[in-house]
Amino acid sequence: MRLKFCSLSSCSYANSVVVRDENTCLLIDCGLRKRDLKPFLAGVGLSPGDIDAVLVTHCHTDHVYGLRFFLKERNVPVCSTAAVLKELTGSYCFDEYPAFEVLDERVKKNIGGMAVTPFRLSHDVETVGFIISSNGERMGFITDTGFVPENCLRTFRFLDYLYIESNHDVEMYGRSAKPRHVIRRNLGPAGHLSNDQCGRALRSIGQGNCRLVVLGHLSEDDNEPARALSSARRRLKPEVALASAPSREPGLWSDVLIKGL
Ligand SMILES: [Zn+2]
Ligand SMILES: [Zn+2]
Repeated sequence: MRLKFCSLSSCSYANSVVVRDENTCLLIDCGLRKRDLKPFLAGVGLSPGDIDAVLVTHCHTDHVYGLRFFLKERNVPVCSTAAVLKELTGSYCFDEYPAFEVLDERVKKNIGGMAVTPFRLSHDVETVGFIISSNGERMGFITDTGFVPENCLRTFRFLDYLYIESNHDVEMYGRSAKPRHVIRRNLGPAGHLSNDQCGRALRSIGQGNCRLVVLGHLSEDDNEPARALSSARRRLKPEVALASAPSREPGLWSDVLIKGL
């Protein structure tokens, strides 16, 4: 089996993505509600027992809310950089501490049969993106960042698959009912990627051998899938498959998206 991935939930409410190959299955973030954990995993043909480790991008609720419920079902290592894990232990209430596995920024580490490399992003708490590789294929994972740092743009250039945040549409934000300080934060350098910023990143990232781009973390209030997709499509070669992850339900596996689009 080649490397493949699937979003379980992707919005400001709950984020979680599964990445797997034939030997190893990783969960990236676990922002799911307790009631959604098993049904959402079952929706993509998995159960908690299939997961070998959880990677954590950062400690915002929409990414870690369900972690303690998941770990009760399946006690696996929780992996991230020391800074993210420190924040997790300081801010998060575990019933029982899991095994933490420290990853170093820009250093590849094997987790089961996959290699994981974290990259620092720009958010208002410590946040990392990842490159995950297996069987000669590479997937990039970038979410919750005010901009894509230059070193990521360079390193992420040759990927087979990319999951990238396309959070908001700047024009729609102009009509947003959100408080002004929230809008300022979300549009700022430690906030979230707009459709346009995502598109500009795709101009340099998604061009080489990339076969599939999945847009994630779309705001339910300040974005629409059609806007995010058309902004990204304009920046990608026609042969690159493109999809947006559904907000509060599992999406399709990457291999299905590639075949079906
Ligand atoms: Zn988030
Ligand atoms: Zn966040």
